[in-house]
Amino acid sequence: MSNSPQPALQEIVCCMGQPVAGNPTQFMMERAFAAAGLDDWRYLTLEVPATNLTNAILGLRAMGFCGANFTIPHKVAAIPLLDGLSPAAELMGAVNCVKRDGDKLLGENTDGKGFVESLRTVLDPAGKKFVVLGAGGAARAIAVELGLSGAADITIVNRSETRGQELVTLLTDRVKISSHLVQWKGDYEVPADCDVLINATSIGLGDAQARVAVDGNSLRKELVVADVIFNPPRTRLIRDAEQRGCRTLDGLGMLVNQAVIGFKIWTGVDADANVMREALEEFLNI
Ligand code: NDP
Repeated sequence: MSNSPQPALQEIVCCMGQPVAGNPTQFMMERAFAAAGLDDWRYLTLEVPATNLTNAILGLRAMGFCGANFTIPHKVAAIPLLDGLSPAAELMGAVNCVKRDGDKLLGENTDGKGFVESLRTVLDPAGKKFVVLGAGGAARAIAVELGLSGAADITIVNRSETRGQELVTLLTDRVKISSHLVQWKGDYEVPADCDVLINATSIGLGDAQARVAVDGNSLRKELVVADVIFNPPRTRLIRDAEQRGCRTLDGLGMLVNQAVIGFKIWTGVDADANVMREALEEFLNI
């Protein structure tokens, strides 16, 4: 029998989702574990097709993983396979982060929280008026979390009326916040009393020249302009808004902050956001 000491148990978190060519979140998390001295922690990226989600979650339980991130297509399908949801995840109907608590798996949604944390670096959302472009998963997470943070009013601007109206109904009936829909046709003119404009569509993903249909003359210098797109982070909307003198927030801030929140949920330790942002910029070659 060997006299060598038992290896330390490894604490494992995983990301289940679509095939990814490398995973920026894994890169960030591994750096942040090392910076926090959490040498036994590992973050794995696991490609799980939709048909295998149930078995994968049983595996996660059986192997005692500390938690998980879910990406598309699992954010909604995972819900019935979990033991409970946070109030925000329940309202959004989507989970991107799971924590194991004893033998229970609890679902949370950190996307909207990550956005609001990033926003707080320039402005307190309480009492402010927002325009959210888009009504998909990111828009839903952001709008619900803004509502829970005391936003005064949220206008949803979306191409598909049905999807847009579903989000407005959720905000009005469940989050109890003033909200209405504008169907997106042509260039959208940002109202003069709007405090923050958010692009929560996928326009700009992988294309720095892609144009979000917004009237440039309505980008007043008092406006904060935020984009969820993080690759590339300097989207055309962000560049145009900067030229007009607006304060801007790129999608990297949201991604880093949702990771900081997930890190704390799993480990109980505050992550170093600067280490995470640097890791992300290195990964994305920025
Ligand atoms: P969804 O597919 O759920 O929603 C996409 C939204 O974009 C819909 O509202 C869709 O409108 C709109 N849209 C797409 N193309 C156009 C177009 N040409 N003109 C007008 N509207 C358009 O995606 P998600 O909400 O999940 O993700 C959106 C983006 O957010 C992704 O690029 C993702 O990478 C990013 N994201 C960033 C995060 C971060 O941390 N920075 C976190 C999560 C997501 P319609 O309903 O009419 O189809």
